[in-house]
Amino acid sequence: MTATETPARTLDSYVLGAWQRPPSDGAGQVVRDASTGEPVAEVAGQGLDLGAVVAYGRTVGQDALGALTFHQRALLLKRLAQHLTGVKEDLYEVSLRTGGTRRDAMVDIDGGIGVLFTYGSKGRRELPNAHLLVDGPPESLSRDGSFGGQHVRTRRQGVAFQVNAFNFPVWGMLEKFAPAFLAGVPSVVKPASATAYLAEAAVRAIVDSGILPDGVLQLVSGPARGFLDHLDVRDTVSFTGSASTARVLAVDDAVIRRGVVLTAETDSLNAAVLGSDVEPGSPEFTAFVASVVTEMTVKAGQKCTAIRRVIVPADRQDAVVDAVRERIAQRVVVGDPRADGVTMGALASVAQKEEVLRGVAELVAGGGQIVVGDLAEPEVVHADGTRGPAPDGAFVAPVLLRFPDPDAPAVHDIEAFGPVASVLGYRDLDDAVRLANLGGGSLVATVASADPAVVRHLVTGIAPMHGRVLVLDRDDARSSTGHGSPVPHLVHGGPGRAGGGEELGGVRAVEHYMQRTALQGTPAALTGLTGRWRAGAPSSTGTGHPFRKSLAVLRVGDAVESGPREVTLDDIAHFADFTGDTFYAHTDEEAAAANPFFPGRVAHGYLLVSFAAGLFVDPAPGPVLANYGLENLRFLTPVVPGDTLRVRLTAAQITPREDEDYGEVRWDAVLTNQRDEQVATYEVLTLVAKE
Ligand code: NDP
Repeated sequence: MTATETPARTLDSYVLGAWQRPPSDGAGQVVRDASTGEPVAEVAGQGLDLGAVVAYGRTVGQDALGALTFHQRALLLKRLAQHLTGVKEDLYEVSLRTGGTRRDAMVDIDGGIGVLFTYGSKGRRELPNAHLLVDGPPESLSRDGSFGGQHVRTRRQGVAFQVNAFNFPVWGMLEKFAPAFLAGVPSVVKPASATAYLAEAAVRAIVDSGILPDGVLQLVSGPARGFLDHLDVRDTVSFTGSASTARVLAVDDAVIRRGVVLTAETDSLNAAVLGSDVEPGSPEFTAFVASVVTEMTVKAGQKCTAIRRVIVPADRQDAVVDAVRERIAQRVVVGDPRADGVTMGALASVAQKEEVLRGVAELVAGGGQIVVGDLAEPEVVHADGTRGPAPDGAFVAPVLLRFPDPDAPAVHDIEAFGPVASVLGYRDLDDAVRLANLGGGSLVATVASADPAVVRHLVTGIAPMHGRVLVLDRDDARSSTGHGSPVPHLVHGGPGRAGGGEELGGVRAVEHYMQRTALQGTPAALTGLTGRWRAGAPSSTGTGHPFRKSLAVLRVGDAVESGPREVTLDDIAHFADFTGDTFYAHTDEEAAAANPFFPGRVAHGYLLVSFAAGLFVDPAPGPVLANYGLENLRFLTPVVPGDTLRVRLTAAQITPREDEDYGEVRWDAVLTNQRDEQVATYEVLTLVAKE
């Protein structure tokens, strides 16, 4: 820092339930405004007691989350998302210092809030209102049904330690926090120093909201080197950053000997492949070029998902280069994001700028030719609207390279983490697949084509080497969420070079913070452990019709067994006439008998399900509010005229809703005939009042 500069504030950490400001020890790192070079904050070099931080998460944080069900945690995520939405303008303001435009800030901040909303919703729709997750169907392991198996998941007992990258200080934190929180595991966040002030501002907004229990989110502002020394088999580490740091972490004793679960999301040479069917001027061509330019310029290309390799038919390279050049000239204005009209801001730091320029120089040395842009100091728009160079800022103009030799190792190896992409020509579709896969495993690829055969060829060829593949054509060009935007519903991660991790992906990401255990025992024991009734477990018909019971009194295993009902030929004929379902198996004796599955005319499956409802329903108004569906319906034995039906309905799972005065009850339904053969099995889904 020079003598004329205002001393930067030392960033606080939020640990052990309080904000802590380390004394400025002179060993810290001054982080600067990416556009102007002004100091923003100092990240202190002095370490915190990381052992105490981890212990606090494992005790206070674990206890707080253990007291909550999945649904209660999900509701807190939703409330947090709503709160952050209300204060996001303040975060946008801080975000300007990272060099990002308002659009970039939205990708980071609204993107992070969106992850909270999604997990807040999925947690209540896809997880039980419980502490334990039933994983997959029950397995029967004995002939007499007295012994079975069931996979379950329980939360890990330690902390979820995040080591984040500089490019998405808010999204990067929240996309890891939300699934860990939903699983019931407290997070410790270590942001990248370069933009740690924005992560600190976001955590301040979270803490100020008072929504989260103590100990579930701690922030370590500082280098935090050596954090792995404090972790063991109870803990997970989710790392985003360079492949070289990931390697250092992966060979640490904590991972190799103590069983820390490490997922890494590292650099990725993502591809966009233009189908052989796509000609210049077509909607697919336009959408492809737009996607390439978007990925080069959003966040100034500092996205792990950005397109680095533009793989196109060899005879269309010139057309693609010209179209990219034209679109950049028309649309891209580089400058301080505080100035009007700027569409691409600065890189996060001067160090990153030097890193990117070095990367481009290496690509050129490796055979690349710069065909759009150059490495000279760009003229940019300053905050006051004037134009000129900004040597203290971290600006780089978009650079497109072309590789005459598409096999040049450099283009499949060097990630210039900025507004940089390279064009490669392919001979045929197999060649395109081969080139895309030379990235050694990537987070995402786009395939642009309107020909289903081309799409199938390319996607089946590259999918094993990619975590996500976006198929782009004229019909989804406008509605697509975009090549570079991970969505919380789908897997974000990729094999090999991309780090081998799998962040996000709906409930899959929650399961990452949980241990899968195979339980074995009697149906009664497994029902007691999982709260989900299974055949063979005790059930009771002696305490009144279960449809008369509110959730306050209904118990798993409460059942109703109906009296018999005969199915007549008239019933079948009437149902056929009434519904219009006159399929021959129900109306034509001779044709039905010729069918290998039927002895003659049989009852409609839907008739059986309707009769079953007539047998088990208790009709008077009561706590059962609605039937909202059936699941796993199977017709097992044909029913012929003269057969007699009975049904047994058992309360199999009870899920009270947190924010409603009702809940869901899943009923196990078994329909049998006069020989006790199962005719149909299914689950009935109902909404039932709490009181
Ligand atoms: P780093 O790997 O150096 O940093 C990433 C994170 O790891 C930061 O929080 C950093 O902390 C921390 N860290 C660094 N070294 C250690 C260590 N030995 N032990 C524990 N934590 C450590 O990546 P950079 O930020 O320097 O970025 C370098 C390159 O990584 C980029 O140019 C790009 O190629 C790639 N990258 C990929 C990203 C992706 O999303 N896939 C995102 C960002 C970068 P601190 O900041 O305090 O040093």
